[in-house]
Amino acid sequence: MLDAPFPELDDLLRSIGEAGRHVAAIEASEGAAGNISVCVRWPIEPRTRFPVVEAIDLPQVVPELAGACLLVTGSGRRLREIIAEPTANLACILVEEGGRTGRLHTSHHRRFERVTSEFNSHLAVHQDQIRITGTNFHAVIHAQPIHLTYLSHVPRYQDATYLNTHLLRWQPETIVNLPEGLGFVPFIVPGSSNLMAANIESLRRHRIVVWAKHGVMARSDVSIKRAADRVEYAETAAKYEYLDLAAGGGGEGLSGDEIRAICRTFDVQQSFF
Ligand SMILES: [Zn+2]
Repeated sequence: MLDAPFPELDDLLRSIGEAGRHVAAIEASEGAAGNISVCVRWPIEPRTRFPVVEAIDLPQVVPELAGACLLVTGSGRRLREIIAEPTANLACILVEEGGRTGRLHTSHHRRFERVTSEFNSHLAVHQDQIRITGTNFHAVIHAQPIHLTYLSHVPRYQDATYLNTHLLRWQPETIVNLPEGLGFVPFIVPGSSNLMAANIESLRRHRIVVWAKHGVMARSDVSIKRAADRVEYAETAAKYEYLDLAAGGGGEGLSGDEIRAICRTFDVQQSFF
């Protein structure tokens, strides 16, 4: 939830660009992989940046988002290129009353036909979080960080308890930044309604969820860059775990006692250690 003065459209476009550049810099969005969306519920006037308007049906009915403005990456666009030309890579969707339809605003320079194929998952998470928390701002990033995705191919890491107790042990800050740990969803075909449903359920309890053999989705109701940070925290933890595997497993990691002491000091509620 953000307080006034609210970020303006250009501030949001720049933040999405910076988050996209950051996700690419940590090798979590090769080629056109990954996508970003932001849902804001204060008035936005898109026509100065996105003058082309068309009516669209939304992929699902989202009555709670009536009046909201969504900024979302175009299908096939590269996250690293958003910052140089946001309006060529992003669309702006104003959700109409009833939540069945929207007005799709784009630029004359847009370089995509449709918005991201994961838009259904983005929209569903925005709607679910806004329904539960009433937030006026919500950001979602899907990324494909290499080490985390690799570990999701290893059977023992497909258990959420094993995954979390092994990843949250390498740096004191990890449990502070991800106190609910990482959610885990078994492999489901990208863009499907089954992935959408499992993803919503997991993001109710976590700030980031691993989609097995695919990547992650992270959310934030504070900033787009905060969601990108969550991708980086989780990927850094996975990188330590991978290093330890590659080095023969000699690293101790923080002990349960050490992690519990950190949590007492920083007043962190967690259930893994
Ligand atoms: Zn993907």
